[in-house]
Order: sequence, then structure tokens, then C-alpha cells
Amino acid sequence: MLFNKKLNLLNYNECNLFSVDSNGEFDPSESEEFLIFDGYKIHLKKKPKSQNLRICIGLPSKKKWQKGVIKIEVSHPPKAKPKDIMDFCQKHKEWIAKTCARYEAQIAKTDELLHSHGGKILLFGEWIEEQSLAQIAQDFLAQMHKSNSASNPTLNLTPSPATKLPKLKTTKQMLSFILLCHIKERAQALARQMQLEYSKVAVRETFTRFGSCTQNRLSFSLLLICASKPQIDYVIIHELAHITHKNHSHRFWNLVEKHCKEWRALRKSLQDEYSLFRLVLENL
Ligand SMILES: [Zn+2]
Repeated sequence: MLFNKKLNLLNYNECNLFSVDSNGEFDPSESEEFLIFDGYKIHLKKKPKSQNLRICIGLPSKKKWQKGVIKIEVSHPPKAKPKDIMDFCQKHKEWIAKTCARYEAQIAKTDELLHSHGGKILLFGEWIEEQSLAQIAQDFLAQMHKSNSASNPTLNLTPSPATKLPKLKTTKQMLSFILLCHIKERAQALARQMQLEYSKVAVRETFTRFGSCTQNRLSFSLLLICASKPQIDYVIIHELAHITHKNHSHRFWNLVEKHCKEWRALRKSLQDEYSLFRLVLENL
């Protein structure tokens, strides 16, 4: 499930040497090439094997990138002409403006929310004090030991493992642990309901997708720790449905809908809150 909007347009066959000329600006101190279009800085990325121009607008997760700043990037074949890149941007001017405005509004709202919830963290859709995280992680751990003992009675013969959290030193580690415990439990219940089998569940600190499913292995973004439980259920159902359908066909969405009637609203709300989740985690 990707959330950066991408346009894959314009079949490109021109083969002229690329250089940034008077159509745009080029600052040699920047390691990256860019053009200024309609007041926007458009970053350029050469794609050796690409035949198409492609525009991507989003919040990069790279360490070097300034937090909360939108990046507009056009990837292009190496020999593309700047004029054609400008024409391409011109053709999609409205879309660029609309997408940037949407991100800007999200960022402004996020700043406001972060400011009014100073010192708190967004956990399962609710703002809680950061200090209470350790206790929540501890409770999940205790619960995990309890269910392990119940499913494997022989464990009762051995002393119960220490209910300390030795490896959970940082806030992010605690959040990952809490999210993984929650997702493991929900994935098990939802897979049973959908009559599907997966092989593994993982939580990763990746900001490009909410979830993915590769060879029946489910992977979820740490971003979901900020999401509400119904939003998380939707992402789990979405990824589980990919076990049957490897695409986003009608049949795929029918399967999602069968188990999550509200999928459209939940999907939209996740897209809308993406920047908020990102900034909450990046501010840790
Ligand atoms: Zn998908």
C-alpha cells in the first residue's frame, strides 16, 4: 500500500543530452539537480533504464531531508531535455498545486496538534503521556507470557520468564514492541476469519508504506502505532488479502470489503493522517 501519489505518464523517446539551462535554475553547490517551476523546486532524478517521466510528491524519510518539508521529484531518462520536463510539469500544474496544498494543510495541522499535545505521544489514535509507555509495554509483555503459558502448559513447570524489558531502551523500541504485540494478535484473529494463512509478521521503521505482503510474510510500518485500532485492522486485512490477490483488482477490493466494510473511509483517513504519524515519530 503506497501513499505517495505518483503519476506515471508520457511515453518518452527523446534522446538529447541533459543539462539544466535557462528554462530553469541550477545551483552547483547542490548535489542534486533541480528546476524551479511555478515557484516550486522540482528535484530531478536520472533513471538510466526509464522511458517515462514520473513525478512524485511526498515527505522523504531520508535523514538529510528537513523534517516536514515536501519534496517534488521528477524522475526522467538520462537524456531528457529540461524543456520537456518543464512541459511535463506544465501539463500537470494543477495536480502539483493540489497535491502540494494538501500536504501543506496536513503539515500545518500536524504542527498545531504536536504543539497542543507537547510531551505526549499518539498511541492507537489517542494522545498519551510518553512516560506511561514503559508500563504499557510491560503489560503487553506480561500478557504475552500469560498466553504463551496457556497455549503451552509445559512452560508452567519452568519459572516464568522475567517480565522485564531489557531490550526496550528507547521510545521507538517500546512502540515497535507494543505495535508488534497488537498486530500479532489481530493478524491471527483476522486471518482465521478470512481463512488465510501467513508465515510471519514484522514491524519495521519504514515510512514509505503502511504495510506489505511478500511471499505470505506480512510487514507493517511503525507509523501504525499512531493509527486507531480500526485503521490498523484495515491495513492487516489489506495485506492479508494480498495473499490471495497479488494486485489491487476488483476481486482484491471485494475481498477487503467483505471483511472491512469501512475500508474506503479508513484508507482515506490513513492518507490524511500520514504526515501527522510521520512527524510524531520523527520528533521522538
Ligand atoms: Zn496493497
